[in-house]
Amino acid sequence: MNEGVIKFQSINVGFDEISTFDFGTINPIRKQCHKMGFIGINEDGIGFGNLSIRVLKSNHFIITASATGHRLDLEPKDYVKIIDLDILQNNITYLGTKEASSESLTHAAVYSANSQIKAVLHIHHTVLWNKLIFKVPTTDENISYGTVEMAQAISNLIRLRKLNEGILVMAGHQDGLIAFAKNPADCLKIITRALTD
Ligand SMILES: [Zn+2]
Repeated sequence: MNEGVIKFQSINVGFDEISTFDFGTINPIRKQCHKMGFIGINEDGIGFGNLSIRVLKSNHFIITASATGHRLDLEPKDYVKIIDLDILQNNITYLGTKEASSESLTHAAVYSANSQIKAVLHIHHTVLWNKLIFKVPTTDENISYGTVEMAQAISNLIRLRKLNEGILVMAGHQDGLIAFAKNPADCLKIITRALTD
């Protein structure tokens, strides 16, 4: 990490299994994303991509835990619930038995930018990244993923353009894209539509 970069901290404050309703909303779409290669593991065995949903009428959200990218199907315990966060201090407070990833902060930035947004999908896709970079809202190439700067850049793009749904490219995060919408199925639709357009 560069000097001056605020290290990501996650604080676990217990375990609260996600509801059957939330699991039913997020898990089938997450599985589809995995099948389509939007979420998975790279040649080095490192996981990429994550999906989250807002918990009804709150700023809390449920997100795939870190180190789950290799699995096609997940269980309720493979998700964590983010219940508090401080974007400027790069820390989150969460419930769950697994680790919350530093990428949760970027999802948090999307939710805090617009209350209409209920789902966020982060994927890696070389073809789509090359196709859309600087053609859709794109964060600066000097900003890397999981940093305070990325969270702020994403939040600014959504706020300034008043986006309720759409797709963003992260120039400083090779192959990294973010789709956001009112539900996870729409996030996936935005990605597949962008691929075929
Ligand atoms: Zn990524």
